[in-house]
Amino acid sequence: MDESKPVWRYFANQYVTARQNFIDAAEATDGRLETLPISQLGPQDEQLSIDICILGSDNPRKLLLHTSGVHGVEGYPGCAVQVKLLERWAAGELEVPDDCAIVVVHAVNPWGMAWMRRVNEDNADLNRNFLPPDEAYVGEPERYNELNALLNPRTAPGGWDFFALRAGWVILRMGFNTAKQNVAEGQYERPRALQFGGPGLCESPKLLLDWLEGALEGVERCVALDFHTGLGPHGVDSLLISGEDGDAAFASLRERYGPTVQPLDPDAGVAYRIRGGMLDGFKSRWPNIDWTLITQEFGTEKPLKVIAALRAENRLTQWGGRPDKALLGSPERERLLDIFNPATDKWRGMIMLRGQALIDDTLSDLTPQ
Ligand SMILES: [Zn+2]
Repeated sequence: MDESKPVWRYFANQYVTARQNFIDAAEATDGRLETLPISQLGPQDEQLSIDICILGSDNPRKLLLHTSGVHGVEGYPGCAVQVKLLERWAAGELEVPDDCAIVVVHAVNPWGMAWMRRVNEDNADLNRNFLPPDEAYVGEPERYNELNALLNPRTAPGGWDFFALRAGWVILRMGFNTAKQNVAEGQYERPRALQFGGPGLCESPKLLLDWLEGALEGVERCVALDFHTGLGPHGVDSLLISGEDGDAAFASLRERYGPTVQPLDPDAGVAYRIRGGMLDGFKSRWPNIDWTLITQEFGTEKPLKVIAALRAENRLTQWGGRPDKALLGSPERERLLDIFNPATDKWRGMIMLRGQALIDDTLSDLTPQ
């Protein structure tokens, strides 16, 4: 850590440190702290858990739900934003109405965060794991099979394999937006491949959903902010709105949250439609709550670089033949941390600024004028 840079103290690069920062900040507030341990251990044999701090009303009708680390390694910048939020609360800088609470959920995928992966212990992308209760964990995008050999080589890493060139060819043939949609949508057929949505509802999503069952009792309105990195232009955040298909709803969100609001249509913005997204999973389980579902995505590197890094890391993990602990310090895992948590002043400063700005916008949304 570079002490000369004040925002850097918020950015840990180990799960134990990040979690401790979160716990310390939570304990300095007047809020409640709850811990949901999972059955897996971290690289230092530490207990892994989802940790939750509840601020404000004990029986809220309105809620701001802020989640981080659904994509493991993205939890490091997510934690930074949440620690800052907790500090601002402790300093009396945030105000909420009497019937409102803020629920801050640290590390929905603690295993991925601890082991520097984007997926969890089942190789599942947890933002593809929250299918509605009546939907089976089967299927894949129509053209995923055309991409499979390119994305998921079944050999140990080594040598040049001309990924960028071959990917460029696929993009030419298929079109960038079609390729993006087919890569990213989520698949439930290939457990060792990229964008696997899981064999069923995984342990940490289940723990979180069970906990929410109690926490959402009596809640009528909820704005859910899910923090992510790695999508969109470097240094810019996009707000991806799910569950809103009406033009009027979209227009009102644009008005409130500004031009960073983007649709999930792959032809109309940086994003794509997905199956099993966490926020939609909340909505499908509690349809009577009036939800606003916002994924805040901070861009880091260009899409092809992000995919290349994920592909290399998954290839090493699946086919490298090395034990888990030997993978932690590998260049492939270090690269993921770099891609999803860039170590520059400018990027980190922007995260801190825009992360808080969205929280402020949300709280004003929840406060009657
Ligand atoms: Zn993400």
